[in-house]
Amino acid sequence: MKILVINAGSSSIKFQLFEMPAGTIAAKGMVERIGQADAQLHYSANTHQICRSVQAADHQQAMKAILAILTDAQAGAVKDAAEIQAVGHRVVHGGEEFTGSVKINDAVLKSIERFADLAPLHNPPNLTGIQAARQALPNAVQVACFDTAFHATIPQTAYLYGLPYEIYEKYRVRRYGFHGTSHRYVARRAAELMGRDKYALNAITCHLGNGCSITAVKNGRSVDTSMGLTPLEGVIMGTRCGDLDPAIVFYLADKGYTVAQLNEMFNKKSGLLGISGVSNDMRNLTEQAAKGHPRAQLAIDIFCYRIKKYIGAYTAVLGTLDAVIFTGGIGENNAAIRRQILSDLPQLGIEVDAARNEAREPKERLISTDRSRVKVYVIPTNEEAAIAADTYRLVQS
Ligand code: ADP
Repeated sequence: MKILVINAGSSSIKFQLFEMPAGTIAAKGMVERIGQADAQLHYSANTHQICRSVQAADHQQAMKAILAILTDAQAGAVKDAAEIQAVGHRVVHGGEEFTGSVKINDAVLKSIERFADLAPLHNPPNLTGIQAARQALPNAVQVACFDTAFHATIPQTAYLYGLPYEIYEKYRVRRYGFHGTSHRYVARRAAELMGRDKYALNAITCHLGNGCSITAVKNGRSVDTSMGLTPLEGVIMGTRCGDLDPAIVFYLADKGYTVAQLNEMFNKKSGLLGISGVSNDMRNLTEQAAKGHPRAQLAIDIFCYRIKKYIGAYTAVLGTLDAVIFTGGIGENNAAIRRQILSDLPQLGIEVDAARNEAREPKERLISTDRSRVKVYVIPTNEEAAIAADTYRLVQS
């Protein structure tokens, strides 16, 4: 069965075509700069590598371009679009309603629209992607996989903020958490690597990409996570500030900053970029720090320090810790950051093996020493494969 996985952003649609249940990738690519005159299609399948400009004034047109290339006589991966029996969509916010992936119907669409209030940058383009796919493939089963769903098991003690209870009742202001598909995927994978049942693992999963979040996984289920009502909370990220004293908002408002300016500052100008004044990209920061740039080094130090603090806190939350898992662009590729985060933690039973940490292959590997009580893994995330697997399971059911 061919399953198409779609990740629709405000100006791009990423896609992967899976052959299920094998899970092999038949084709993948993206359309970027949707809405602009210079929209681009990137595509690869078998021996074909294509990069060309396409007509994509909106998501509908981008979707058409994707189906055109997928069914192309030379480069295509299917003869007929009807071979694509299902489409799995990444949806960022599922509110309190969605605790797992679901088949999409009109009621589901309405809910995703309602939660746009909580994820104004993400849910609207996700919805547009679903509508475009429904139009282009009217006979395919459409499935939504939510970034928040894995965190539905977080207990109230961990998800409620210290605000008046009515604020939760009235507006559903609470911790939701994000990157759930990634945290779930790497936690399940670690259980497999350790030869354990997926519900018999206590782990701390560190998704460190442009956005970063840390999750405490107890008996295979998320029990706490660093991101909150929105992806702004938690550790510092490429351009996001992470945890703050909320009074900073009032203080800066008194200094004349508007809500819109603070929103922009906290989301786009803070974190690694804001502290270093150099870049939001860890590769650049590592390079600059090595050349002696003090604020690049400071940004790296704060990044690692905050993550270490979460690992300590979540170790206490879990009681016993079996594994720490690194994933995402930084987590998978930056050995120095992993080393710094996990330095001097013998009291937690965590000991990183220098050679295993520095080795680049295999990508998925154990990096702790043989005597380390807690296993440490690097596991490349694969949200698309997880979405394809969920979609396949729902189509079969
Ligand atoms: P996103 O969260 O947007 O999916 P990524 O997971 O690719 O982004 O993470 C981006 C971060 O990962 C950047 O800070 C980048 O420097 C870092 N990164 C990505 N690839 C590498 C690599 N090969 N080596 C070192 N750092 C990398």
